[in-house]
Amino acid sequence: MSNLRNYYIELGVSPKVYDFCSEIEEGLADRFKEIDKITELNQVKVLKAMQECRFAEEHMNGTTGYGYNDAGRETLEDIYAKVFKTESALVRQQITCGTHALAIALGGNLRPGDEILSPCGKVYDTLEGVIGVRESKGSLVEYGITFKQVDLLPSGEFDYENIKKAINDNTKLIEIQRSKGYDVRPTLSVKKIGEVISFIKGIKPDVICMVDNCYGEFVEIIEPSEVGADMVVGSLIKNPGGGLAPIGGYICGTKDCIDNCAYRLTSPGLGKEVGASLGVTRNIAQGLFLAPTVTSAALKGAIFAANVYEKLGFKTVPNATEDRHDIIQAVEFGKPELIQAFCEGIQAAAPVDSFVTPVPWDMPGYDSQVIMAAGAFVSGASIELSADAPMKEPYAVYFQGGLTYHHAKFGIMMSLQKIVEKELITW
Ligand SMILES: *Cc1c(COP(=O)(O)O)cnc(C)c1O
Repeated sequence: MSNLRNYYIELGVSPKVYDFCSEIEEGLADRFKEIDKITELNQVKVLKAMQECRFAEEHMNGTTGYGYNDAGRETLEDIYAKVFKTESALVRQQITCGTHALAIALGGNLRPGDEILSPCGKVYDTLEGVIGVRESKGSLVEYGITFKQVDLLPSGEFDYENIKKAINDNTKLIEIQRSKGYDVRPTLSVKKIGEVISFIKGIKPDVICMVDNCYGEFVEIIEPSEVGADMVVGSLIKNPGGGLAPIGGYICGTKDCIDNCAYRLTSPGLGKEVGASLGVTRNIAQGLFLAPTVTSAALKGAIFAANVYEKLGFKTVPNATEDRHDIIQAVEFGKPELIQAFCEGIQAAAPVDSFVTPVPWDMPGYDSQVIMAAGAFVSGASIELSADAPMKEPYAVYFQGGLTYHHAKFGIMMSLQKIVEKELITW
């Protein structure tokens, strides 16, 4: 073990930081064991789906051009449908990101006059543009679709009374965002999502319930599609891509909903029948195979970070002991120098671009400067260890990912190291 300590010291972690973090890690053994149980179940679930769909070597060859009869693409979609326990799935590299997947799910299933209802308040930033909450070209609002939201109660619970009042004849689709994203509310458990879906379907049975599943996949042993969601939607450069998918998005759901999505993604009349896989099926499938383990690494890293920084007196969301429903960890630092040092540490621990220094910049669409740390194999992949923070009160940093737990741990140790070196805390 002293060998390991020496390695870390050579990498720039001071003995004091190393010993402090090691002690915290020792206290997390039981917590990590609980996560391992979830991982094992999800691993077996994915493996079973691959075997039952008779996934084969030839499926990884890929097609070009139109991509008719791409058996690999079709089998991969069957595997996703089995894992998420849905009738159908659309899993494509032609879906460019999570926002695109969500835009397809919405645009494909809504018609002029329909209304979207969000029972968990504000939608994810980029979705505001998709829907037209924030004016943007080509938004759903321009096509005559309307939007309503009911905020969560201050306790973080659903406001059932006002949800009931908000449902009307035009309500066609419910948008439920599982992860808090970069908001302050709590992340929703799958159980809670199931409860609100039952409630809403009790009032209007034919409404489509869609869950933005980003960052939530494989964190629990069931997915929202198992508690009544008609569609679950996410990005392949987050949890389900396992770090190997170089691009893509997925939508799993009822056959009706997925067919509508496919007609929107490709073209009416063509739907799922086209879309060459270009040899990417191997990465997407292998990534799915690794996804439960990779997600658990990210979760353990988040728990480790919460425990390190809570012990140092900072507010962490979720806190050190809370149950987890997504992989995002927020730490409120209260000071710009602290988030800058934190991000420098995450960057310094990266396998790619470890030598660059992150600086705050004016990112399009944000009302303050943002600082980001990422040294990823897949550009922008937030299943890889990454951190970002808007340069404004309460100076909170959001950090997520880590393809391996040990890398996430090293990133957190380096973040603390930078903070200590700059004498930003006394301990
Ligand atoms: C990441 C994310 C999205 C989609 O974002 P992309 O950057 O377009 O992949 C949507 N909703 C939530 C909650 C997310 O975390």
